[in-house]
Amino acid sequence: MRQPLVIANWKMHGGLQANQALLQVLLAELGDTSGVSIAICPPYPYLASVGQAISSEGLLLGAQNVSTHDQGAFTGEVSSAMLKEMSCRYVLVGHSERRTLFQESDAAIAEKFSQLQAQGLIPVLCIGETLEQRQQGQTTAVVQQQIQAVVERVGIESFSRAVIAYEPIWAIGTGETASAEQAEEVHGAIRHQLSAQNLAVAQSLPILYGGSVKAENAAVLFSQPNIDGGLVGGASLDGQGFAQICRTAQLANAQA
Ligand code: PEP
Repeated sequence: MRQPLVIANWKMHGGLQANQALLQVLLAELGDTSGVSIAICPPYPYLASVGQAISSEGLLLGAQNVSTHDQGAFTGEVSSAMLKEMSCRYVLVGHSERRTLFQESDAAIAEKFSQLQAQGLIPVLCIGETLEQRQQGQTTAVVQQQIQAVVERVGIESFSRAVIAYEPIWAIGTGETASAEQAEEVHGAIRHQLSAQNLAVAQSLPILYGGSVKAENAAVLFSQPNIDGGLVGGASLDGQGFAQICRTAQLANAQA
């Protein structure tokens, strides 16, 4: 059985004091975290302090991005080896904000995925369609192509050490959430696509949903058979609300 995973993507929010205050509320609210994995992805400068605050609490550290290069004259970049040294476990690759605002290509995303795995880190491959693509009936084709671009670069077996996050772009930061049926349909199609290439890998791969996940909609999403948790942006900045989302994932696991 796949253990649920909930990842907080703080994006470019926070500060030393604000982070500590948020974590204090979150850790006090969370209590027992058995049966659910929880990771926090702060901005790079806060990896050390957040890592220190959560490591003894059973929470995992993640990062929001990584370089395509392993070292060298790449001003402003951060390598997978550096993230490993900071004790990161998960790293987002291909978040839609990176794809659209920073023009990251499928090829660059596949390279990042590969760099992370070379260091033993777990890439969280983010995929998703625009509203226009959904309206034109292209959702499945778009996400399957985004995944296949990485499979062709690293091989299907690499997905035994990865996570996929399906995040419809029209639902990210908009307050609009895919219905549980819409999300489950895409998650099922992703698992089907990977099953055709390697059944064991497909069955063990965590596929998270992201896009305006909140305490109020987490239960219906996480109860779907192919939804293994969430990638949470805005709602992860509220300690109480994020704790409730994590507890909902824990409960969904206990009831499965
Ligand atoms: C995200 O940043 O990956 C995300 C899903 O954001 P939000 O939860 O705010 O939609």
